[in-house]
Amino acid sequence: MSTLAEVLAQETRAGELYHRMPDGRLRCVACGHRCPLPDGAVGVCKVRFNRGGTLFVPWGYVGGVQCDPIEKKPFFHAHPGALAYSFGMLGCDLHCAYCQNWVTSQALRDPTAVAPPLTASPEALVRDAVDRGARVLVSTYNEPLITSEWAVEIFKQAKAAGLMTAFVSNGNGTAEVLDYIRPWIDFYKIDLKSFDDRHYRELGGRIAPILETIRRLHAMAVWIEIVTLLIPGFNDSRDELDRLTAFIAGVSPDVPWHVTAFHGDYKMTEPPNTTAAMLRAAAAIGGANGLRFVYAGNLPGQVGDLEHTHCAACRARLITRVGYHIRDYRITPEGACPSCSTRVPGRWSTRFQGQITARPITIPLYR
Ligand code: SF4
Repeated sequence: MSTLAEVLAQETRAGELYHRMPDGRLRCVACGHRCPLPDGAVGVCKVRFNRGGTLFVPWGYVGGVQCDPIEKKPFFHAHPGALAYSFGMLGCDLHCAYCQNWVTSQALRDPTAVAPPLTASPEALVRDAVDRGARVLVSTYNEPLITSEWAVEIFKQAKAAGLMTAFVSNGNGTAEVLDYIRPWIDFYKIDLKSFDDRHYRELGGRIAPILETIRRLHAMAVWIEIVTLLIPGFNDSRDELDRLTAFIAGVSPDVPWHVTAFHGDYKMTEPPNTTAAMLRAAAAIGGANGLRFVYAGNLPGQVGDLEHTHCAACRARLITRVGYHIRDYRITPEGACPSCSTRVPGRWSTRFQGQITARPITIPLYR
């Protein structure tokens, strides 16, 4: 019987994100690892490989599909209420011990992560998204950067069908991959998991490419929102949160920062769960550093005003949320506060169209 790696090695085609090195190796530039690959070598992500001088990359399958409220990604300043048709592939360039999507992200590293690929086509995915009333197509669940060629193929067709597009990513990018996806992407969520390079190395990466991705995407005018999963004892010191939020505010105080609650998952089950008080304390640090839009996630109904959007100028409440559910929406068709007319940073619809769902909807998988 074929192994998953052998099966996935068939679900590929020649990729575009690489340079040919003077010594004949291929340098993959889909993520910040920038793997130099001699013939026969597989990248850190385990899904891109050099065979006979050609870089083969994942193609033609999904690991799962789900319809989510866009608030779950989370995007709070990008077409609130929109249905986000979300697909993932398999594999990741990091190996976070607390990954909540480990069945798909670690499918090639961990034999207990069993997630067979499901044959898919861009046409079928886009048609299904449109039929279900989705307005955004999202590459998520595993790390989308490592499968950027496939995402761009789908996004081209999504855009032709009038959909918006997004990545939900760890941000371990390169200048080359960001230039490659830029024409086809509208929104980008980045996990800023820590502000300590030693912590990033524990997760299998480095902090520098992540910070550079945030700077570049903002400079490229891609709408970004940043998430930090607050893990007690890992990344919740006052000093680390102070430096992390000061960095975001230095990129722009208008970038929304979501600080979200950890619960034990995968191989990280020892730290206690994050409490609402911990989220509030972290949010206060972000606010003190000048961030204008700070949200606390994963503990609906327990974090007071930190689920809602307020005008940064007059503090009027603009969007009322409980979890992913939008209870009230007051942003004007021009994307401004109705009380003081201050523009609200983000990407807004001219009319709030309600929510098709405030909960994830699993899509039966097809072949
Ligand atoms: S995507 Fe990243 S980890 Fe995978 S081969 Fe390319 S550079 Fe290496």
